[in-house]
Amino acid sequence: MANTPHLALADVTTSGDGTNTTKYRFAADEGNSVESVLLPSLEAASVSTQVGCRMGCRFCGVGESPRVLRNLHAHEIVAQVLAMQTSANTGIESSPPSIRNLFYFGMGEPLANFDNVLGSMEQFHRMGIERFAVASCGLVPMFPQLAKIPLAIRLFVSLHAPNNRLRSELMPINRQYPIEALLEGILEYRRSSFLGQPVYVNYVMLRGINDSPDAMMELGRLLEDYRTDVIVLLKLFNRIDTLPLRGTSRRQIRRCVRVLESCGVCCHYTESYGRDINAGGGQLTPGSPFTAGEEGKRGQ
Ligand code: SF4
Repeated sequence: MANTPHLALADVTTSGDGTNTTKYRFAADEGNSVESVLLPSLEAASVSTQVGCRMGCRFCGVGESPRVLRNLHAHEIVAQVLAMQTSANTGIESSPPSIRNLFYFGMGEPLANFDNVLGSMEQFHRMGIERFAVASCGLVPMFPQLAKIPLAIRLFVSLHAPNNRLRSELMPINRQYPIEALLEGILEYRRSSFLGQPVYVNYVMLRGINDSPDAMMELGRLLEDYRTDVIVLLKLFNRIDTLPLRGTSRRQIRRCVRVLESCGVCCHYTESYGRDINAGGGQLTPGSPFTAGEEGKRGQ
């Protein structure tokens, strides 16, 4: 069908960080691009779900110029993984990748494109992929729909602040669905989802903004009643050239982990693979219409 939107593989880059993390850039039909990441060490692929994103998160290159050109169709989400597998047969990769985990961590808010995400998930499942992870900025009304899917889906939710004032500054969605609603949604998801496992709470560490010991204590108090329902991931911020933000040092992040642990909160420090090729968390780029030729970067 001539008018069926499709993605064309435009570029493949492999990291030199020892993990063989590989970034795939696809030209979308509007002349924009989306990116996906193959993570061989995790037997995982991370896919994009939208061309652009309208959520406007302040720490994200995509969110810097908030707009969404369109949702990706289910077949375009699947095509990102098929291209990873096909490229192995064309000599770009040395052997076919093993993909057992599918992450919806790429560009866009997956729950704002729910039907296509669900359609792609069903296709991936038919392809033998059994484990899924979905990252959301906090589109709370969609959590129950995600919970109804009878597949092994881990939910990752962006928090990034210990209070509504700061979270609203960083993430406009907080004005619609503030922290109280978010935590209630997390609780419901944990209770009703197929896996019934704790929800991962992403917290990107921004120097001088959300990373003080006081902020960690406030976060610990906030999560006091949710300690068995969430696992906090304190994340190293991958610098974005177009944004005036700096990341917290690794040393300070480790201190913050200890503060949260002293509050009884399960907490881990995480870093991205493929940072050297801008494939890490927060580093995928939507292409020139958003970033005027600069490397824009996104993050959940
Ligand atoms: S962080 Fe995610 S939800 Fe927020 S603007 Fe970027 S892509 Fe959209």
